[in-house]
Amino acid sequence: MGSSIIPKIAEPDIDLAADVVADGEIALSWSDSRSSGLYHLLIVRTGAVRAFTAIRLGGETCSYTLSNLGRHQRYRISVLGSRDGASRASSWLSVTPQAGLRPRRCMDEPGIEPYLATVTNVSVMPQDRRLTAYWRLQPGFVDRVRLEILRDQQLVKAFDLEPEVTSLSVDRGRGLELQNGAPYELRLATLFASFAIPCPETAVCCPAPRGEERAQNCRFRSRHLVYPFVELGPELAVFEDDVAGEGGGGGGGGGEGASSGPAQKLRCCHCAGDVHWQEYRLLCSGCRAEFIPNGRGAFLETRTLRFGTCKCCLPRKILVRRQGSDSLVCAHSGKEHIPLADGPGYQLIEDLPFGLCQCCRPRRPLLRKDAAVVCQKSGEKHRSEQGRWVLVPSEPVFDATAIDALLDAGLAEIGASGISRARRS
Ligand SMILES: [Zn+2]
Ligand SMILES: [Zn+2]
Ligand SMILES: [Zn+2]
Repeated sequence: MGSSIIPKIAEPDIDLAADVVADGEIALSWSDSRSSGLYHLLIVRTGAVRAFTAIRLGGETCSYTLSNLGRHQRYRISVLGSRDGASRASSWLSVTPQAGLRPRRCMDEPGIEPYLATVTNVSVMPQDRRLTAYWRLQPGFVDRVRLEILRDQQLVKAFDLEPEVTSLSVDRGRGLELQNGAPYELRLATLFASFAIPCPETAVCCPAPRGEERAQNCRFRSRHLVYPFVELGPELAVFEDDVAGEGGGGGGGGGEGASSGPAQKLRCCHCAGDVHWQEYRLLCSGCRAEFIPNGRGAFLETRTLRFGTCKCCLPRKILVRRQGSDSLVCAHSGKEHIPLADGPGYQLIEDLPFGLCQCCRPRRPLLRKDAAVVCQKSGEKHRSEQGRWVLVPSEPVFDATAIDALLDAGLAEIGASGISRARRS
């Protein structure tokens, strides 16, 4: 995880100048005594509830304009330059974007450290050869969240995730063959520029076959454990005549966790075949039709769902479109599902090949277009720098029409109505 000590930023060695060019518009420019591989433009909205946003820029960028900021808000702005694991910063400027007001240098010089995001509330859900980690991100600057999975104190897999991602399922589909009954430890940290802040909480659990999750995990601290609440056992026949005519084949479902009473048979609506759980999927053994329980005793056939099922939960849940937006989310976890660029199907943020953009708020997926990697919404070019995507602005203007709303929402929520920079002519 690197060191837990955050390097102190010594004397400011980037010169930042800010100019309120009009109401809501701040023109920034900076000069740097050394070359930086990348810059972070840091913006803190001050007030009772502080809010944070950072824009990652290529090292050749040395001016940027923020427009459509709230003219009654006060912002703290700084620039951080990073290269080879070391960061240097400018002083903090205090700016109210109202025509006629001049930016001031902040007297208290808080540095960066108090403004870095941290991870809290770590929990984990064990399933059959699968773990799902959940966490909460506290407000602050963050580039990525790192999830590490350890077995016997040895790192077996690490994931670097966009801060919008606050849960991750790990199984063979994500490149890790977990073993049932083996304890795994989960560690989390937030990464920003050259800083890493480990979360002091860790969670331990062992994957276990369906139905044995609780029994196998009772030896671990329960504070960090959650369990799937969907009952996967067959429904019980509670009235005697429910099973009339089923013959004496009691237990036909075969010990799926039902402790008493015969199982209610589920029949396929197409071929009347037996429907039962297989690897968290409810499948017809005859025609292979797949169903999902709606949680109220009814079953939906996945083929008839408008958007299909989610990619985040097991058992799968229904995908829904949020009102007033065209983004799709899982009805259970709320995770956004992004339509694939080429063909049908959806992708989670954690599976995007290039992650999310730096130009829009909420941030949108980066795509490969010809030889470049661009934002799906604004078309702005991005470049990989020290393992992270930085914006290479064609025109250094950031249209912050929705920035206050976004800052209020933090980075937790991604909608579809991303704001983008002013159109290029
Ligand atoms: Zn069938
Ligand atoms: Zn889901
Ligand atoms: Zn964008």
